[in-house]
Amino acid sequence: MAGKADAHEEIGINTRLAHMGPGPSERHGFVNPGIQRGSTVLFPNAQVMRSESQKYTYGTHGTPTTDALCEALNELEGSAGTLLLPSGLAAVTLPFIACLSAGDHMLMVDSVYAPARRFCENVLKRLGIEVDYYDPAIGIGLESLIKPNTRLVHMEAPASNTFEMQDVGAMAAVAKRHGCVVTMDNTWATPLYFRPLDHGVDISMHAATKYPSGHSDILMGTVSANAETWERLKAANRDFGLCVTADDAYQILRGLRTMGVRLAHHMDSALDIAHWLEGRADVAEVLHPGLTSFPGHALWKRDFKGASGVFSFVLKADRPEDWTRKAQAFLNALTYFGLGYSWGGYESLAVHVYLGDRRICKGPTTGPIIRLQIGLEDVKDLKADLERGFAAVREA
Ligand SMILES: *Cc1c(COP(=O)(O)O)cnc(C)c1O
Repeated sequence: MAGKADAHEEIGINTRLAHMGPGPSERHGFVNPGIQRGSTVLFPNAQVMRSESQKYTYGTHGTPTTDALCEALNELEGSAGTLLLPSGLAAVTLPFIACLSAGDHMLMVDSVYAPARRFCENVLKRLGIEVDYYDPAIGIGLESLIKPNTRLVHMEAPASNTFEMQDVGAMAAVAKRHGCVVTMDNTWATPLYFRPLDHGVDISMHAATKYPSGHSDILMGTVSANAETWERLKAANRDFGLCVTADDAYQILRGLRTMGVRLAHHMDSALDIAHWLEGRADVAEVLHPGLTSFPGHALWKRDFKGASGVFSFVLKADRPEDWTRKAQAFLNALTYFGLGYSWGGYESLAVHVYLGDRRICKGPTTGPIIRLQIGLEDVKDLKADLERGFAAVREA
């Protein structure tokens, strides 16, 4: 984007998304970059091959297409370097392996994306790494859980499924004072609505599968690191050899161009529906950080620039033995909301949330929890769909 605008001018996010990256003059005027597929890269002679002076050397180490995406993400995250990995889960777990050794201890938020907890229990513990879980609301009380061998603190805010917020800046400062690496899963907010590295986090991870893809057709994870941790991460991934295809990198780069307008639409529709749900007699609670009634609202308002389109609500149901039947009646009556995992695409989705793996932060006890991904459909049609769900619950 250099040279296109005065460096001191405050450039809006949608303008940045539209113009970031190398200009069209470098590709014969075509607006979009090409897709460079490849494993083998040829060297002009044996001396250059030996000298490691050539920019591209082998497909797993990057291509112009994957670099274009990494540079765009570095600009959005304020990071020194970004890794592209085959899934969001790989992006969350690779930094743990890169930063932890046998005998180390890590602190993991109890409301974490469930497969990340499974990785800690199945893989890290087997490798001799101790893991303790903390309450997302702990704040600077985190300090009391830090041991002499604590090396890493992982955060995720808002939490998966229940959306608890964390005081990221204060907690990161405490962790850093004790020499820990601080990692954060920032998938929900995207770097458009929250920039973890500006709040003291070392490594920001994303499931690019969600909003950056935006169309439920690409799986990718990204890990963006500050200068202190970047070399260590890059070295770890050189050992693993994890990479993505140029075609997928191109699609994520394409998704970023429209992510600002898509997110704004997801945000407005989701807040509209969240407010509407909050006023209903058949809803016990709405779990959305953008609602003033939500316990984490003040932190969200202080730190975040916006909210994405995923939140949960609790169906009012007094007797726990009715919960599953009522949740299933609700879901089965929906037509526009698909029943499926993941989110961030253009289409709405709904799931019955399972919190059985939680230890500390057990979530609401007022009824079954339904998570909604609000897509780009018209809000009135989505509300009519949800009305069908509530009618089915009343009959169940
Ligand atoms: C979906 C998700 C992931 C994993 O992404 P995949 O690409 O599906 O592996 C990680 N973290 C969060 C918060 C997610 O929602």
